Amino acid sequence: MDNKLYAELKKIYKDDILYKKEDLYSYAYDTSPNPKEVKLPEYVVFPKNTQMVSDTLKVCSKFNMPIIARGAGTCHCGGCRVSDKAVVIHFSKMNKILNIKKDDLTLEVEPNATIKEINQEAEKEGLFFPPDPSNLAVSTIGGAAALCSGGPRTFKYGNTKDYIINLEVVLHDGTVINTGANVAKNVTGYNLTSLFVGSEGTLGIITKLTLRLIPKPEVRRVTLAYFDNLIEATSAVNNIINAGLIPATLDLLDKNTLSTIEKFNPCGLLCDKEAALLIELDGFLENLKFENEKLFNILKKSNSAQIIQASDEEENERIWKARRSAFAAVTKLKPNVITEDVVVPRSKIVPLVQGIQKLCEDNNIIVCIMGHAGDGNIHPNFALDLSDKEEKERFEKVKDELFSLALKLGGSLSGEHGIGWEKKKYLKDALDENALLYMEKIKKLFDPNNIINPNKMF
Ligand SMILES: Cc1cc2nc3c(=O)[nH]c(=O)nc-3n(C[C@H](O)[C@H](O)[C@H](O)COP(=O)(O)OP(=O)(O)OC[C@H]3O[C@@H](n4cnc5c(N)ncnc54)[C@H](O)[C@@H]3O)c2cc1C
Repeated sequence: MDNKLYAELKKIYKDDILYKKEDLYSYAYDTSPNPKEVKLPEYVVFPKNTQMVSDTLKVCSKFNMPIIARGAGTCHCGGCRVSDKAVVIHFSKMNKILNIKKDDLTLEVEPNATIKEINQEAEKEGLFFPPDPSNLAVSTIGGAAALCSGGPRTFKYGNTKDYIINLEVVLHDGTVINTGANVAKNVTGYNLTSLFVGSEGTLGIITKLTLRLIPKPEVRRVTLAYFDNLIEATSAVNNIINAGLIPATLDLLDKNTLSTIEKFNPCGLLCDKEAALLIELDGFLENLKFENEKLFNILKKSNSAQIIQASDEEENERIWKARRSAFAAVTKLKPNVITEDVVVPRSKIVPLVQGIQKLCEDNNIIVCIMGHAGDGNIHPNFALDLSDKEEKERFEKVKDELFSLALKLGGSLSGEHGIGWEKKKYLKDALDENALLYMEKIKKLFDPNNIINPNKMF
């Protein structure tokens, strides 16, 4: 324990500071695979307001101590992991929804409010915050902003960056800035809000957010369409879009995902089919009747083997519950699960998915593939036993080839989970050399001593 650092933090936090080894463990991980040697943070602190965060940054700056912001810790790419030593700043005491302005369509919120809580509050005013990182009951808005989380509604509504108009951010030396203004449109100066959204907590610590809301759609209808092969399923995605329909969700689940969900959470999914599309339409009831019929006809013409359309909210929820249980189901196949995230132009989904299936077959790795087909964003969930050295090596090979395949197909390393610790070695392959150089300069400008979530992204 560094007594001087502890004494200064203690002055700010009194008892809201953890330092015992057994307390620190839970703050050393996220949902990425554990490294061989787990590094614990030195301290975990729980600020109650922006001033405390600012004071913490001043202290960390003085002691050159890395600082890592943490929400729910559901990051898949090691963004919350401690790389050497660090103070973890956890926002569980900054979780308030501060105000909602119906006429302005805005909501101000502290970083640890969950996306579910934000939507519950918005719904009271007939409003809606569309980004949904599939784990919205726990995912915090601070974490979602730092990762620019997406999720199944991105095809129609966009991702987190499209719904953040202003951020309060604490910089490396404790300076507090507001990145924008609480207005719907704003082209005043550089767009710092966009710079911080998706910066993975490497440039500053977000302490307050102003969100843009939209009116909540009146109703939604979920359809599950099964296909006997992948090519027909992805052709159906194009047929739906080309017919002028804009579903909120156009998600793809492969055969392994369907059967794994059904095995651990029996809910009547058809496991003999090669693929399924989960399609959600939303809007006014009258429009939806028309769109639903149109969708049904397109799916029929696209050779869907079976179409199940929910007739009420209860059935919608039943289908969604099955889809949301996919990650948990895969965790039961083997001791470890690694969720990857690649994105390609939509026209390249078939070669991507077939390529992943072949890679896994050749290397004897279990994979369940799902993803946001409308966006070309695919998540292979790998079920693994990482204590098996040989399997781990085979997986590392699959991982390298997965990213090189995505890049060869004109895609990129991440559609929504970010780079963090896990993917930084691939960054130079994915970015323009000079763009990467300028990104590194931006990091240096905002964090000259490299104390804010160091060793992530670069
Ligand atoms: C089952 C499951 C399903 C998922 N599905 C999706 C999906 O469909 N789409 C998707 O996009 N993601 C998905 N994710 C990934 C992830 O959960 C989301 O991106 C989520 O929004 C992260 O929120 P969090 O609170 O857990 O952030 P954390 O994991 O706690 O933090 C994420 C990153 O943000 C930084 N950070 C956190 N708070 C702050 C702050 N206040 N200021 C600055 N930096 C901060 C952290 O340092 C870290 O680098 C999924 C994860 C799981 C486990």
